[in-house]
Amino acid sequence: MARAAAERSEADATVHILWQMDHAGGGMPEKLCAVELTTRQRSKLERITGELGSLGMCLPGSVVVRTGRCGKVACSCRDDPPKLHGPFRSWTRKLAGKTVTRLLTEEQLDDYRVLFDNHRRLKELVHELEDLTLSIIDADPRWKT
Ligand SMILES: [Zn+2]
Repeated sequence: MARAAAERSEADATVHILWQMDHAGGGMPEKLCAVELTTRQRSKLERITGELGSLGMCLPGSVVVRTGRCGKVACSCRDDPPKLHGPFRSWTRKLAGKTVTRLLTEEQLDDYRVLFDNHRRLKELVHELEDLTLSIIDADPRWKT
């Protein structure tokens, strides 16, 4: 399947970049050239990267569970009280700029819930890490303005 192949090559690219960063001496420097991290910044950095390292699998996208009526006039979904169709557990995510939607079974949603939660936490941690890094490099005396 073409989509699976595209996803796989994207994943390979990510691994390749991570490998390069690792071998270029990336990671968690104790000290930047001209900026000393405060004790508080260092412990925050350790907390974030530690949590990132133990996060586990992450599933992107959002799930909406809904019930609904169909277009048929004579259907139990129009009864009083109505017997609605569903629930439909609709998982939506972006893939190469396009919205992709798939329906999950109840069991799948139960299984995947922790993976969705992990992804939400991943995004929070990435933002925290970015904010922390921005505040650290802000103290760099080499800024001209
Ligand atoms: Zn119906």
